[in-house]
Amino acid sequence: MSNSIVQILLPIAIDRPFDYALPLDIDYAVGDLVEVPFRGKTAIGMVWGKEATGYSGKLKEVIRRLDLPGISAENREFVTWVARYNLAPLGMVLKMVLPVPLEQRTKARKTLEIGVPNLDQQGTVSLSEDQETAADAIQKAIEMGNFQTFLLDGVTGSGKTEVYLSAMQAALKQGRQIVVLLPEIALTTQWLNRFQRRFGVEPLQWHSGLTPSLRQQTWTAILEGRAPVIVGARSALFLPYPSLGLIIVDEEHDPSYKQEDQVIYQARDMAVVRAKLSKIPVVLVSATPSLETVTNVEQDRYQHLVLKNRHGGANMPTIQTIDMRHYPHNWISPPLEDAIAQGLEAKEQIMLFLNRRGYAPLTLCRTCGHRLMCPTCTSWLVEHKRNGRLQCHQCGYNVLLPSTCPECKAEESLIACGPGVERIHEQISQTFPMARCEMLTSDMLSTPKHIHDLIRRVTTHEIDIIIGTQILAKGHHFPMMTLVGVVDADLGLSGGDLRACERTYQLLHQVSGRAGREQRPGRVLLQTFNPDHPVMAALAAQDRDGFVDAEKAEREARLMPPFGRLGAIIVSGTNTHQVEQVAKSLARTAPLHPDVTILGPVPAPLSQLRGRHRWRLLVKTTKAGPLQNLLATWVGGIKPLGNVRITVDIDPYSFL
Ligand code: ADP
Ligand code: ZN
Repeated sequence: MSNSIVQILLPIAIDRPFDYALPLDIDYAVGDLVEVPFRGKTAIGMVWGKEATGYSGKLKEVIRRLDLPGISAENREFVTWVARYNLAPLGMVLKMVLPVPLEQRTKARKTLEIGVPNLDQQGTVSLSEDQETAADAIQKAIEMGNFQTFLLDGVTGSGKTEVYLSAMQAALKQGRQIVVLLPEIALTTQWLNRFQRRFGVEPLQWHSGLTPSLRQQTWTAILEGRAPVIVGARSALFLPYPSLGLIIVDEEHDPSYKQEDQVIYQARDMAVVRAKLSKIPVVLVSATPSLETVTNVEQDRYQHLVLKNRHGGANMPTIQTIDMRHYPHNWISPPLEDAIAQGLEAKEQIMLFLNRRGYAPLTLCRTCGHRLMCPTCTSWLVEHKRNGRLQCHQCGYNVLLPSTCPECKAEESLIACGPGVERIHEQISQTFPMARCEMLTSDMLSTPKHIHDLIRRVTTHEIDIIIGTQILAKGHHFPMMTLVGVVDADLGLSGGDLRACERTYQLLHQVSGRAGREQRPGRVLLQTFNPDHPVMAALAAQDRDGFVDAEKAEREARLMPPFGRLGAIIVSGTNTHQVEQVAKSLARTAPLHPDVTILGPVPAPLSQLRGRHRWRLLVKTTKAGPLQNLLATWVGGIKPLGNVRITVDIDPYSFL
């Protein structure tokens, strides 16, 4: 009876599989999905291995095997890799592979109608020479079945999407699956339309907005190999593709690829791992690649594919800074106001960008000076006029805007400080009453339908001025958009974040790319109090490479990523003394290693979040340093105390 014990991995926060007995006459393959009794209920798990782990008690029996293909070896290897790299429990990574309730699938077994992509070359565009070279390189890697990472690099509008659509054809011809990762999946109508025009069908989508039944059907179609193309958010990377042939990561520099809760991971980096395990190419796409990726190109790990010019010869917009020290009391400076007036006059479109949701970032009492804060976070409450509420942007807490100061009870004494997009919208609507002016933000009042609708109306020029947050920066193609005004270009620079400059550059470059995409030349005005700041200077001079070089030199000098490695430890709990105690015992037991520096512990900048107090430590190692091993042993040796939780974040992007 040597094969009568199997290890079953369950999609829960436990790092090891459980032993189960098999009914005598049955044999299951590793990767099979099975139903097992677990803690008085039944659960779905995956056969992880078939060797007894030495448990000698009486084992529970596996109930049944699900009528589904098993999870492939590549996907299982990926689970292990992701768990080990990110120091996450194996079961939590499995949960990302099985993100649908499998118990119920026997009831409603509707199968999804999936269109077959038309691979006929007719009707496709003829590629430019640069595009051809790039597409050929990717295609060759697909045909050879090689792991290779490409950086597809070119300014917005240079035809990068066209290149990878063309390369996708090669993978589809081989009958392989493709996953395309996009940030802000809710906003990809234009992308979907393009795919549809090219391949005659819609790809399947994967994102949080799917209905449970569509989610279920999509997942099953992927597992059964019936879904040729999946376009999705970062979580789409973990779905159980049996025959993946190509991965595309569009806007690879985008911060939304970093998942910050549950399993903390960077999807772009994990995509490269997935490609390596599956021996397939992965294409990272960006006009402003991350320093990590640029460094990998320089060290010959990634192959650089460059598109030098905007397609059809459209020029890049001119970028100028407006020195706000001359206009300290204006949110919209006179030069920007003039430019808006000119644009309206010429019947062109204007975008105003401010990466701050709501009406005002701070509300204070002019009688006693009290500032309205979230009761459970170290965060000011942001006024949202649209629904008359104050909202915490950290935890979502919200209350009706009070009429009296909660502190001194003075009436009519609360004042809004500083502008958010709602306030800019209000002001612009007053200054330009004849213009059709709308606002687009990503808050809870904007449904995907509302967003699509608005984007469509901008595209068809039913709107003259669109004002919004970074939701506007991404990928949209608005033919008549000639002016982009950035209300507060300095906004992302403060806070001492490792990537503050890099991100600000990328974001403002991306916003700028919305101007002048067709015949009419584009113009970008950046309102800044620091026109000499390297980020502003580089943007104005359109000197991406110069900026990247300077930024790299600085990171290299400090041995910061990508030249060293970071791991963050966040200690949190509701009892501030216990949190401090655990943070300090981490400091006391910190490992000594010549390649390792430990910073902290200190109270986190966001020292309270959802009622939990937070302390942080930062671990810095050399590039080859033993980051994961060291963290695992160290953190594993700390005794739990109260409800204190220790979270490890490998390659952190947030330092709050
Ligand atoms: P990017 O992804 O670099 O921003 P796109 O692939 O979206 O660039 O291309 C910008 C615009 O130019 C799109 O409207 C696209 O259809 C068009 N385009 C790109 N390459 C070609 C080509 N070879 N022939 C015709 N149109 C093209
Ligand atoms: Zn809060």
